[in-house]
This record gives sequence, C-alpha cells and structure tokens, in this order.
Amino acid sequence: MAKTSSPAGAADRHDILILGGGLVGASLAIALGQAGLRVALIDRDTPADQVQDRFDGRGSAVSLASKRVLVGLGVWDAIAEKGPILDIRVSDGPSRLHLHYDHRTVGDEPMGWIIENRFLRRALHKIVAQTPNVDWLAPARSTGFERGPGWVGLTLEDGRSLRAPLLVGAEGRSSPTRDWAGISVRRVEYHQTGIVCAVEHEKPHQGIAHERFLPIGPLALLPLEHPNRSSVVWTEDPAKVPGFLALSDEDFAYEIERRFGPWLGKMRMVGPRWNYPLTALMANRFYGDRIVLAGDSAHGVHPIAGQGVNLGWRDVAALAELLVEAARTGTDLGSPALLARYEAWRKPDCVGMLIATDGLNRLFATDFPPVRLARDVGLAVVNRIEPLKRVLIRQAMGVLGNQPKLVRGERV
Ligand SMILES: Cc1cc2nc3c(=O)[nH]c(=O)nc-3n(C[C@H](O)[C@H](O)[C@H](O)COP(=O)(O)OP(=O)(O)OC[C@H]3O[C@@H](n4cnc5c(N)ncnc54)[C@H](O)[C@@H]3O)c2cc1C
Repeated sequence: MAKTSSPAGAADRHDILILGGGLVGASLAIALGQAGLRVALIDRDTPADQVQDRFDGRGSAVSLASKRVLVGLGVWDAIAEKGPILDIRVSDGPSRLHLHYDHRTVGDEPMGWIIENRFLRRALHKIVAQTPNVDWLAPARSTGFERGPGWVGLTLEDGRSLRAPLLVGAEGRSSPTRDWAGISVRRVEYHQTGIVCAVEHEKPHQGIAHERFLPIGPLALLPLEHPNRSSVVWTEDPAKVPGFLALSDEDFAYEIERRFGPWLGKMRMVGPRWNYPLTALMANRFYGDRIVLAGDSAHGVHPIAGQGVNLGWRDVAALAELLVEAARTGTDLGSPALLARYEAWRKPDCVGMLIATDGLNRLFATDFPPVRLARDVGLAVVNRIEPLKRVLIRQAMGVLGNQPKLVRGERV
C-alpha cells in the first residue's frame, strides 16, 4: 500500500524528489530514506498492479555488486526466489567451440543470481513501505515541472505541489524529467525484439546460464531457483514475433527447444510470454539544473549481457553516497559540482557497457563465414586463458574499478 503525503495546499518540502519508482527509483528512495533524507517517491502506476505476475515477465541477472547493494538496503532477504548462476556457457550457433565460465575461477560465491522482476518489485515495495522519511506517492501523475531559487518542483494531477533542492529522473527510457531538462539522447535501434518467458525443462539446469548466439541475436536460458526452470530471453526478428506469439504453448516451447539444442531436454511453458523492442540509449549528460538522471533514463543497454539494472543499481550506490555525504556536511543537494561528480563517476562505466554490449550483438549477428570462424576461434582462445576469464567474470560481477560504499558492502 502506497503511503500518502500531506493534503493539498502549500508545497510539500522534501530533500529529494524521485520521479519513477521502478527497480532503480525505489532502491534510491530506500537508500536515502534510511540515511535520514526526506524523500518523495512518485510513480504513475499502482503498486499492487506492478507486482502482479502478468506485469513484467523479465528475470534479471543480478550481479554480485548489485546483491551487495540490495543487502545493504535490507532488500535481499525479502526477495522470495533467487537462482544462483554457478557457470556460464557461451556458444555460437552449431559450432562446437564455446566459452565456459566457472564461478570457482574467482571464488566460492555465485557469479550472480537470476531473479524474476516481480519478486524484486515485491521486495522493494515491502522495504519502501517500511522506510521512514519516504512519502510514496503512487499512483500519481505529475502534470508539470517548475523551478525557483534553490528548488525544483513537481505538480501532481490532484493539485499537490512538491518541492526539493533536487529532482531525480528515474522514469526509465522515456523520461519526462530528461526532456524537461533539455538533455538529448543518442539511440540505437537494434531491429530485434526480446521475447521473454519461463520454461520448465526435463533435465536440471545445475545453475548454468546459457547464452547461445544465433544469426538474429542471442537466445539466453537463465537458471531460476527451481532446478528445472529457466527464464528465457529469445531475440527475434520483429516481423516474425506476432507469428511466434500466436503459437500454442506446446509449439512455442518446441521452437525454443529447437533453437536451444538438447542440453536441458524437453521443455514446456510456465506462464505467459512478453515481448520488448530492443534499443539502447545514452543521455548526453546525466544532470541538469537541479535534476539528475539514474537508471534507464540515463542509459539503456542491449540485454545481451544482462547488465541494464545492474548499472542502475551502481548509479543508486554512487548517487546515494554523494547525496548523504552532502547532507551531512550541509552542502546544497542540487549543487552542480556535486552532480558533476556523480556523472564523472558513473558515465564511463555506462558508456563502456553500452559499447561492449553493442559490439557483442553486432559481432554475433553476422553470418559471414570468416567472421564466424574468427569469433569461434576467439571464444576457444578466451576459454583457455584463465587470467583473462577471471577479469571478464569480475567485470560482469560489477566488482572492478572505483566502487561506491554500498557495492563494497559498507553503509552510506
Ligand atoms: C528483455 C529484457 C531483458 C533484460 N534483462 C536484464 C537482466 O538480466 N539484467 C539486468 O541488469 N537488466 C536487464 N534488463 C534491463 C532492465 O530491465 C532495466 O535496466 C531496468 O528495468 C531499468 O530500471 P529503471 O528503474 O531505471 O526503469 P524502469 O524499470 O523502466 O522503471 C521506471 C519506473 O518509472 C515509472 N514511470 C515512468 N514514467 C513515469 C512518469 N511520467 N511519472 C511517474 N512514474 C513514471 C514506471 O511506472 C516505472 O515504475 C532487461 C531488459 C529487457 C528489455
């Protein structure tokens, strides 16, 4: 149940306004609220709808760095189901050359966890509702932005007006905050659709995440907590998607099985199917005059490596650390110098991930024989170089580079 703010009338004053209460916005509200900042978290959707099984079929690959953030916020233990990723197997169509990552290469912990977004949202909503200092306004629509000396404001459809020194845009890829601030974005259209569903398979997945590259794009089978269930991301040509979505459950499961190969045996569908057009975007700036962007409103990457929300949680960790430090020292929370530090901290990681995922998608999308041969040899070579594999695994776990406190397992 969403909490409500004070009645209509004079502007409600907060330390931070967050527009968009998705995986990123809700996490940021918890981090700031727990540190004593007064936060308004505004989402256009009804919380009860967002946690329905039919709302979002995606499972997210949650890295070790993101786990640490969620543990730090007290969210991790509230997540009902999490499937550990013990190994990753990357293969290229019918080629027998492949790349195998084993979690024991870097330690005892899993390389990540596959968690269905509905379970992530339920846990986040539970903790938001328990966090002091957070006014959770949902469903609520903002009808306009305003700015005055030392403050930025939002008006809501019900006439309420909210003000704070800083507004965080966390509304995902279509961000009214970003548009209002006049921040432009660069977009990449992949002309691919991600079909998402869950399947039950005859043989146990043994914690192995499979990424199988096919000419149209990758097919991923990601291990859920149930030993015989996986979350599927099937990349397809958009023109063919309506035909596949219209198939019976049996025929649809057969299409996945046919593309995937024999490793997990016979498959059957569990629950419905969803589809998402695949695009990438990068905001030219991550901040403007008393506004800052976090999560997909700042950067969206191809899901080929399952890194989108992991980048968003690293934004949360960095932004929360800078804002809490500023609040403790009495610094203006909307100061350009502070927001520039956030951008300098986060943008290189996000741009690097966009380039890497974009390059991977393009490299594996070509069927030109010399390129195929080179990339298959490349997979086999990387497979034999243990130090390189260790670096790549740590990169995917999000634990390389200058990490914020929450990612290091410390409190902000
Ligand atoms: C097929 C697919 C598979 C993926 N798999 C993975 C994966 O395995 N691992 C991974 O890390 N990432 C993955 N991603 C990416 C991940 O889903 C996104 O990065 C993540 O959802 C971004 O979270 P967010 O909170 O920034 O934005 P969103 O999830 O888009 O949330 C935005 C929130 O803002 C609200 N909102 C929107 N507009 C307004 C408004 N005007 N006013 C108020 N509220 C508003 C919405 O209701 C929503 O609650 C995948 C993406 C796709 C498409």
